[in-house]
Amino acid sequence: MKYCSNCSGIVELLIPEGDSLPRYVCTICKIIHYQNPKMVVGCIPEWEDKILLCRRAIEPRRGWWTLPAGFMENNETLKQAAARETLEEANARVEIGDLYAVYSLPHISQVYLLFRARLLDLDFKPGIESLEVRLLSENEIPWEEMAFRVIHDPLKKYFKERKLGKLGFHTGVIDLSHGKS
Ligand SMILES: [Zn+2]
Repeated sequence: MKYCSNCSGIVELLIPEGDSLPRYVCTICKIIHYQNPKMVVGCIPEWEDKILLCRRAIEPRRGWWTLPAGFMENNETLKQAAARETLEEANARVEIGDLYAVYSLPHISQVYLLFRARLLDLDFKPGIESLEVRLLSENEIPWEEMAFRVIHDPLKKYFKERKLGKLGFHTGVIDLSHGKS
């Protein structure tokens, strides 16, 4: 950050009095610009034994597979965000169900929230951010071409648990700060 979004003044990075971390502080209006993790919200759209996956048309990981998910907007609820992303990326209508997984990704300051969801009809097609949208059963999923570990790992759990007829709720951490991205 270089300029203040409040008054366009120059900002400087400093630790405000009583704080413990450096923040961007405006030299003119003195406002402190706090930066906090972003929420990424998505769902696992279910249809019989299959789930809906999207092949990404955008970087990062263009051409790789993922669940419909994206950044939550201001003034919406978690379930609205998950349904909106599914409509945008797959033109698919879903009824959002229970929360399935929450993952912290501290190396990129993101929190992922994935819901279970019921696909309401089969009238889906790729949105602008997807090359392809498909319903896939467990053994049809290109596990080696999953775009992100934060999608791969909970989906592996999901299919394992579904076989046991017992879907739980999971929290986890994926920290790639010292590994591959
Ligand atoms: Zn300012």
